[in-house]
Amino acid sequence: MQVLDKKGIHLPEHDLWLDPHHARPVAWVSHAHADHMKKHSRVFATPATAAMMHARGAVKSKFHHLEWREEVPWNRARVSFYPAGHVLGSAQMLVESNGVRLLYSGDFKLRDSLSAEKIEVPSADIVVMETTFGLPRYRFPDSNTVLAQIGAWCREVLDRGAIPAIFCYSLGKGQEVLAGLAGCDFPIFLHAKHGQISQIYASHGIEFPDFEVHQSGDDIDGVLLCASQCKRSKWWHELTSRRRVETAYVSGWALGAHPARFGCDAAFALSDHAGYEDLIEYVRLSGARKVWTTHGFCEEFAADLRALGLEAAPLRAAKLAPPPAQLCLF
Ligand SMILES: [Zn+2]
Repeated sequence: MQVLDKKGIHLPEHDLWLDPHHARPVAWVSHAHADHMKKHSRVFATPATAAMMHARGAVKSKFHHLEWREEVPWNRARVSFYPAGHVLGSAQMLVESNGVRLLYSGDFKLRDSLSAEKIEVPSADIVVMETTFGLPRYRFPDSNTVLAQIGAWCREVLDRGAIPAIFCYSLGKGQEVLAGLAGCDFPIFLHAKHGQISQIYASHGIEFPDFEVHQSGDDIDGVLLCASQCKRSKWWHELTSRRRVETAYVSGWALGAHPARFGCDAAFALSDHAGYEDLIEYVRLSGARKVWTTHGFCEEFAADLRALGLEAAPLRAAKLAPPPAQLCLF
C-alpha cells in the first residue's frame, strides 16, 4: 500500500488524506489540535473531535461521525478508528485493503489518562507513527504522580498569598490538569478557550471538579488555567500589576528542563504523547514489521527500530530501510 508524506498522510491508491495540513475536499482527521485540523469540506472524525473542530472554527465543514471500530468503505479500502489516548476523541486510523492492514497512529499515548479514552492498538502489517519524543531520554513519569505534584504546588502558591497560573494547552492538557485537580480545596478558574473545550469534554461524559470561566478584569481567588500566550495579553498585564502570580509550565518538553527555560517559576513533565519506551511498545503491540515515522525524532527512532530487526524509515524518506541483518528482537 503506497503511503506518502504530502503535508499530511496521503494514500494515493485510495485517495485518502489523513490529517492533511491544507484544506481538502475530503479529510480524515485524528483529533482537533491545530496542526491536525484544517477547514476541509468534508471531514470524517469521531463525534468529540468533530465538536471540537466546529468550536475551533471549522463551522462550514460537513462532518461524518465515526464510532470506534466502525468500518467505512472508501475507494476499495475500509477505514476504521481506534482510540489513541492522546486527547478526548483522538483516533488512530486503520486502513485495510487487499488483505493489508495499515495503521496510522495520529498523536497517541499508552499511559492512562483522566480525560481521554484508553488506547486500543489494533494489529497491523504497516504502521505510520508519530515519534515526537523518539529519543531514549524521554521517559515520562507516572501521570498521576505529576498531577498530584501540580495540585501540591498550587496549594503552596496560594498559601504564599499568590495566584498559581498553570500554562497548559486549551485542548487536552488543560482538561487533564483540570480533572487532576479534583478533590483540591481551592477554586479553579479557566481561560475562556479552556472553558469552551472543557464544556465539550463534559458533554461527552468526562467528569471535572467545579470551575469558573475567568472573565477579563475579574479577580481570581484560586488557581488559573490558561495558555502561555496569555502572558502577552492586556488582561494578564492588568492581573499581574495588582496581584502576585506564580506560573507553572505543563508539557512533555518540561522533562529534565529548568522552569526558567519557559520563563516560569515551576515546570511539570506531563505529556499527551508517548515517551520513548511506549513508542517501542506501540510497535510491538501492533505486530507490524514495517514502520514509517513522522514528527520529532523520526530519523533516530527509525534507526532504533532497524536495530530491533524491523524495516523502518522516516516517511519523508519515501523508501523503507531494512534492518542490518535478519534480526528479530521483539
Ligand atoms: Zn495532538
